[in-house]
Amino acid sequence: MAECEHLSRCPFFNETLPNMPTMVSYLKSTYCRRDFQQCARYMVRQALGAEKVPSDLFPYEIHRATRMIRSAEQ
Ligand code: SF4
Repeated sequence: MAECEHLSRCPFFNETLPNMPTMVSYLKSTYCRRDFQQCARYMVRQALGAEKVPSDLFPYEIHRATRMIRSAEQ
């Protein structure tokens, strides 16, 4: 378990995303500071690049991230 390498640059972690839900601190402790490799934003960034991470993508949206990565590979 370790902190995500994208903490300093990630809009989600730095709270610059619009309409942030109240659960954001829970998500940060769960994903950003512990299990970042399971984060949907991390997955898309690693596979497709930072510019391809949708601003409204939440860390728990693994299925959405997987679809994006698969369609980019086709
Ligand atoms: S939201 Fe995902 S990509 Fe962003 S800092 Fe947290 S774990 Fe890393």
